[in-house]
Amino acid sequence: MAFSINQHCVNCFACESVCPNQAIHEAKPHFIIEAKLCTECNGEYDEPQCASICPIEGAILDASGEPLNPLGSLTGIPVERLRQLAEARP
Ligand code: SF4
Ligand code: SF4
Repeated sequence: MAFSINQHCVNCFACESVCPNQAIHEAKPHFIIEAKLCTECNGEYDEPQCASICPIEGAILDASGEPLNPLGSLTGIPVERLRQLAEARP
């Protein structure tokens, strides 16, 4: 099983150096996780190092495609409030 990075990534480089397996690489248009190298940090760390340092909600997904840092988890903004703000945009 492996994690992945999606288009929300802002190419900040933070995750690249913390991966114990050098599974994360710069690419276009955003960083990628090389699936065959990603161990989900099992046996190495209590939490996935990439997700623990990534500042962007929703940029790193687990093997099921679920965000490791879901909406509101880093900013503390309630999801319902985020929805209201999105709906209020012209
Ligand atoms: S979960 Fe761990 S092994 Fe997989 S990409 Fe992230 S830091 Fe690397
Ligand atoms: S830490 Fe997050 S935003 Fe930064 S490069 Fe990695 S996936 Fe992209």
